[in-house]
Amino acid sequence: MSDFPPREAAREFDRDDPLSQFADRFEISDGHYMDGNSLGPLSEDAEATLERVVDEWRELGIRGWTDADEPWFSYAERLGSMTAPLVGAETEEVVVANSTTVNIHTLVGTFLDAVDSPTVLVDDLDFPTDHYAIRAQLRQRGYDPDEHLVAVESRDGRTIEEDDVVVAMDACDPDVVFLPSVLYRSGQLLDVERITEEAHDRGILAGFDLAHSVGAVDHDLSGVGVDFAVWCGYKYLNGGPGAIAGLYVNRDHFGETPALAGWWGHDKETQFDMNLAFTPAEDAGAWQIGTVPMLSAAPLEGSLRMFEEAGIEAVREKSVSLTSYLVKLVDALSEAGYDCEVGTPRDADRRGGHVAVEHPEAYRVSLALKERDIVVDYRPPNVVRVCPAPLYTSHEDVWEVVDELRAILDEATYEQFDRQDGGVT
Ligand SMILES: *Cc1c(COP(=O)(O)O)cnc(C)c1O
Repeated sequence: MSDFPPREAAREFDRDDPLSQFADRFEISDGHYMDGNSLGPLSEDAEATLERVVDEWRELGIRGWTDADEPWFSYAERLGSMTAPLVGAETEEVVVANSTTVNIHTLVGTFLDAVDSPTVLVDDLDFPTDHYAIRAQLRQRGYDPDEHLVAVESRDGRTIEEDDVVVAMDACDPDVVFLPSVLYRSGQLLDVERITEEAHDRGILAGFDLAHSVGAVDHDLSGVGVDFAVWCGYKYLNGGPGAIAGLYVNRDHFGETPALAGWWGHDKETQFDMNLAFTPAEDAGAWQIGTVPMLSAAPLEGSLRMFEEAGIEAVREKSVSLTSYLVKLVDALSEAGYDCEVGTPRDADRRGGHVAVEHPEAYRVSLALKERDIVVDYRPPNVVRVCPAPLYTSHEDVWEVVDELRAILDEATYEQFDRQDGGVT
């Protein structure tokens, strides 16, 4: 293929990149790591805060709760305050706690408790755990999820039209709309502001799952008035496998009773009075449940410091630049007759941090890429997700990835792999 854009253009972009020095702080083995939307890589910074907490555990034992550099007792609130700028919230509105799935249980559950015969609006391209959790919360309140959970249907199997969300709000009169900020497969970024405003115009609460946007896309949750949100610590936030998750509750809802209560959500001042009556914290901290898991929170501290240094606006700007470049290169392959296609919206305002490259043999193509040390993932039925995460990926990396893809398709090297037998790659 003669008209594939030259490598030099990628280097031009990289020369102007204000975030280029961050890459050296990540431990990435040979090749290209394009899967930071599933599991972010280890950084020196994350390792250092993890090691500090291990040292504190060794040296302080139980005194770590009060005497550690960052006392463990208030560590979740501390990390919450560091996360707040990434999601555009006030310090008290954010805490790190639990897992994303558990946070969906407790937050959706909390808002279901406020209404009789609740209906929740979601969409049919959601990450499955979100539906599992909401259905369980409905069932536990005696409601049939087949009636009380309504999913907006995608028109094209890739994206959700905000117009269709609004039509569904009018059609099924939900009490809560709970949607992802970024769809995990196609990478579409939904219009959080518009959906929130349309919901509020109708007296509906708006909650979002930011798992695929936090750390890649800047948000303005408080400004827009989003009611509640959840996200993962281990995707773009690079907090490590199974890292503690995060949640946001708009201050208008402080004082609501958490659906899943536990002593770590108790008012801190009196938590150790050990009263049998539960007095929830007056802020988002109330939605914590049990003791903060220090070892799955500690790496997040170092990682969040990197985001403080970089600034989320710069991160988003570079992310858009990288994904735009990736889209352009894959488009060049499509135009040259290769059987691949971009399944992510081309308008950068409608795109999160990864790009869905569609190919009829996506599964085997993803294996061929991995064999060349390019870590991507496959999502059925036909998507190779490619994530150029901004803190450790350059435009030249993106060029090399698409160049390898071109070689794989040219030589059909993916044919040496067996067809899919199921499972996640
Ligand atoms: C990754 C992801 C999750 C994962 O939830 P866990 O509780 O961390 O396993 C949930 N929802 C969405 C949308 C995700 O992308």
